Amino acid sequence: MIEFSELPGWAIAALPVIALLGLYLLSSKKKNTSHINHFSKEYFKGLNHLLNDEQDKALDIFVKLVETDWDTIDTHFALGKIYRKNGEIDKAIKIHQGLIARPSLPERYRNKVLLELGYDYLGAGWFDRAEGLFKEVLIHDPKSEIALHNLILIYQQEKDWHKAIGTAENLFSENPAKVGPMISQYYCELADLAKGKGDINQVEHNANQSLRYDSSCVRATILLADLAMNAGDYAKAKELLMHVEQQDADFLPIIMDRLVECHHQLDETEDLLDYLDDLESRLEELPLIESHARVIERYKDKDAAIKYVLTRLKQSPSLQGMTQLLRYRDTETDNESYTMMLGLKSAVDVMWKDQSAYQCRQCGFKSNTLYWMCPSCHNWGSVKPFVASPGVDA
Ligand SMILES: [Zn+2]
Repeated sequence: MIEFSELPGWAIAALPVIALLGLYLLSSKKKNTSHINHFSKEYFKGLNHLLNDEQDKALDIFVKLVETDWDTIDTHFALGKIYRKNGEIDKAIKIHQGLIARPSLPERYRNKVLLELGYDYLGAGWFDRAEGLFKEVLIHDPKSEIALHNLILIYQQEKDWHKAIGTAENLFSENPAKVGPMISQYYCELADLAKGKGDINQVEHNANQSLRYDSSCVRATILLADLAMNAGDYAKAKELLMHVEQQDADFLPIIMDRLVECHHQLDETEDLLDYLDDLESRLEELPLIESHARVIERYKDKDAAIKYVLTRLKQSPSLQGMTQLLRYRDTETDNESYTMMLGLKSAVDVMWKDQSAYQCRQCGFKSNTLYWMCPSCHNWGSVKPFVASPGVDA
């Protein structure tokens, strides 16, 4: 008797197909005996081919079975998925194309076959063909969330933000909490493109549209604040940037330089120092020590900045704090202190190698570049400034 461990890898992968056929046999009791006998015989032949790693022969038999009884179509879907998972996209395509070409294919299965074929084309990188199939699904079922989601993924991949917005709007009313932030980011992408062309009106229009779909979009706020700063309207820029804390406080470190500049231009230094003190007392985990120390040094003096860093380090030790302190100490004239400082600096440099400025709160992806869409898990807005113990966003 063959042990499970002796089965070829493909046969183990095909276990879902075998299980589906077995279930079908059990559910066929109502049907006539000769049908069951014929089906069982063919089924075991197909099964034998699968176990012997002869998938093509197995498929020929399953194709005949599906013509006899379309209720066995799930075995085709299962086989197609296995092929796709194993990277044998051409075989998956052959299965699904074979099904769609059959005039006897019942209407109730047509969309499912089109979707499966669409996944095959996506796997093969043929986005235009996949797009055509998902659109065809929508002709039969205009509210198909799967088809709409897949079209959105294609348009995202192709950076066709207008089409992505138009498609996502069909899903917005059903799920605004999930779809709103996506549309909001698409408008920010359009705003970025307009920014590259120097089209200020379009930057403003798209950033405002972005906030309409997601009022907590920090990226849109930064776009608007930059417009205001470029126009010399620092009061407006400050107002916008002060709102980031309510939008998503995790992003505060990336707007700090802009906020400092606004306060400086408005001659509101005392307000800025009070605000930073207040912010750090409420949001201790945010990496604001570098910005805060620079502000203290700029408006008070270096000794006050060093005192601040030392106090913060005692309260909550951090690599950012140590780095900042070493920057202040790099002018040591005493030889012994200088050597010690160099040793500490190289140790901190080594520690930084394992750190990144940003991290995705969904999948943990780390980077020194801020991506608005995580390159790893493709979530929007989940890559944020790194904190020592990042929580995982819900
Ligand atoms: Zn991610």
